[in-house]
Amino acid sequence: MKSYFVKTPLLFKYLFLNWKWSFSKKEKVIYLTFDDGPTPVVTDWVLTELEKHKAKATFFCIGKNIFTHPEILDKIIDHGHSIGNHTNNHFNGWKADLHQYLDNVIEANKLIPNSQPKLFRPPYGKLTLLQSTSLRKFGYKIIMWDILSADFDNKISSQVCLENVIKNVENGSIIVFHDSIKAQEKLQYVLPKVLEYYSELGFKFEKIIG
Ligand SMILES: [Zn+2]
Repeated sequence: MKSYFVKTPLLFKYLFLNWKWSFSKKEKVIYLTFDDGPTPVVTDWVLTELEKHKAKATFFCIGKNIFTHPEILDKIIDHGHSIGNHTNNHFNGWKADLHQYLDNVIEANKLIPNSQPKLFRPPYGKLTLLQSTSLRKFGYKIIMWDILSADFDNKISSQVCLENVIKNVENGSIIVFHDSIKAQEKLQYVLPKVLEYYSELGFKFEKIIG
């Protein structure tokens, strides 16, 4: 049995109204997000694919990866995408007390330019209400998702990963991908097809600005 939902249940969206799960259904806009980078080769490849379709996206980066590859972070920003905070070392909020967690987020924040919107996505989607309230006081918007491509799941095929996206996208959907080594193979299959398919249907791909 899968330990995750591909399409976020409506109940979650109603229970956690302060967290962003999707955007307006009125416009044909899709919000692609890439977690866990920056990663050499993989992130560069994603940037090239996005460029081909004039697509903008949001990258939820891990502080330690930014520290190791600052040049890739600069490249993402130069391409006009948004950067969000994904903690310093992919920290699980359910296993951390408030201060540990905030310190960790602040550590990552030091590596993200002030010009970027204050966006936060909790690793594993795990965040306590107290952590959430505190981060929001710091000015963070908590960005969750509508669709999990499950590109990280080595038990599914690339075709299933593509179907996870195609069967569930709506106007305003926030989709999770990973610019990581683990997800690379599926991402290389799925991302070009998603960009192609929805561009032809007249969708735009925009970054999250807050
Ligand atoms: Zn992550």
